[in-house]
Amino acid sequence: MQQSEIDSLRHLEIPVQGNLIGDRSQPAASGKTLDVVSPIDGRILTTLADAGADDVDDAVCNARACFASGVWADAPPAFRKAAMLRWADLIEKHALELAVLGVRDNGTEIAMALKAEPGSAVATIRYYAEAIDKIYGEIAPTGPNFLGLIHKQPKGVVGAIVPWNFPMMIAAWKIAPAMSVGNSVALKPSEAASLSLLRMAALALEAGVPPGVLNVVTGGGATGAALARHMDVDVLAFTGSGNVGRRLLEYSAASNMKPVYLELGGKSPNIVFADAPNIQKAAQTSTSVFFRNSSQVCVSASRLIIQDSVKDEFLEHLLATVAKLRVGDPLDLSMTTGAIATQQQLEANLRMVEQTREHGAKLLTGGQRLKTETGGYFMAPTVFDNVTPQMPLFQQEVFGPILSVTTFQTEDEALALANDSSLGLSSAVWTSNLARAHRMIKSVQAGVVMVNSSTGSDNTVPLSGVKQSGHGYDKSLHAIDKYVNHKSAWIDLGE
Ligand code: NAD
Repeated sequence: MQQSEIDSLRHLEIPVQGNLIGDRSQPAASGKTLDVVSPIDGRILTTLADAGADDVDDAVCNARACFASGVWADAPPAFRKAAMLRWADLIEKHALELAVLGVRDNGTEIAMALKAEPGSAVATIRYYAEAIDKIYGEIAPTGPNFLGLIHKQPKGVVGAIVPWNFPMMIAAWKIAPAMSVGNSVALKPSEAASLSLLRMAALALEAGVPPGVLNVVTGGGATGAALARHMDVDVLAFTGSGNVGRRLLEYSAASNMKPVYLELGGKSPNIVFADAPNIQKAAQTSTSVFFRNSSQVCVSASRLIIQDSVKDEFLEHLLATVAKLRVGDPLDLSMTTGAIATQQQLEANLRMVEQTREHGAKLLTGGQRLKTETGGYFMAPTVFDNVTPQMPLFQQEVFGPILSVTTFQTEDEALALANDSSLGLSSAVWTSNLARAHRMIKSVQAGVVMVNSSTGSDNTVPLSGVKQSGHGYDKSLHAIDKYVNHKSAWIDLGE
């Protein structure tokens, strides 16, 4: 990727955006719009339709009509597979354009965005497209006079609500498995990152996915609430904050009791034992991974839990790695770290810095806004030492570039610190002791335990939280279960 290619796309005018319903891009019925503000310079890029309950109803009705027509749900698997593979090819062809559009909207550094957004969406769509003609129904192990059949039937209309940090990647984790088994979808992106998803959905039509299979309604919380409360949505898949997740469960209870699958926040521990295979590598890798996308990553290992005897050595490498980070224009390839997605998020991060200082933790580096003169929302990578479990920084998800450091002496202490959280999304353990690694895999309360690694896994393994980080798997073949009914037939074969 060349800087000149990025520069040729960065100032393209972005037309006013409508909801995508069926094959029409249309404004909200009310005519209301929302401004799209770029975190790179605080300027307005374009407007989105601010969808109301009637627009959401329109999208759900289109999805339902498409589902009922059978044009997708009852199509031969090879048809759905070919259409989804063509869609993935088109996303790949337009990858840079999609990545730049997304970065202008949410501020992720371009190299990361290219890999994690179109790159990841393409891989996910291909994974589920390839699965379409390899998933069988089941025959139950009954006695000789009966035949028990288990059919996997699509649920119908899937509602998906996604956040702003990796819109294409996270939306693909939901819409690709849902579509692969024949469902129709109504997708509600975040108001802070809708542009790339609207374009990605338009490419699905271009690829030959029938109109109505994938509908997109844009707007804020009220739009999401209308979707979650809709009586004709069969299942709701959500990624976002715990506060909103809690409300979605209430909306389900107050409407048609649709299943609600929640992928929520994390406060993931990065547990480093003195016997880690290579302290320098552990420090460099986990630090550079933590500050990617300004740490606006659900699985970010935001709590460094480090054995006392190697703390000084680790922190030396950690601070040297931070010193090399370059925060600034996310479309400039020489920057390692982009912008905070919204002004509101930047302000919340800075409030947490103040609060943590007041609680007596020691600021090792960062803590301030950067490049205010650009109008963009940039923040220095920040590290606090001497953080105790009682401090809000240890307990609350920040979703920003603030790392906490806490020390331990023994393995039991490390485990107690790691599990001292209401959240349980991800975790990492650094050790060369195989038995200890397995003890930690068993006992750390998290959906994912990475060993001697900080980087994300591929589509072959599920991602899900425990405790208040949610439930219900994204990725892997397990994700498909959310979008099918296991319908059984019981046939009497006797005379
Ligand atoms: P958010 O919960 O504020 O918003 C998520 C989505 O919900 C947005 O589309 C938003 O418009 C919508 N929404 C807001 N209020 C709503 C309501 N009352 N009813 C229905 N929808 C509503 O989250 P965010 O700020 O966009 O994203 C950050 C959060 O997402 C963090 O907590 C992060 O950890 C989490 N996240 C989790 C994962 C995961 O895989 N577990 C991945 C990425 C992000």
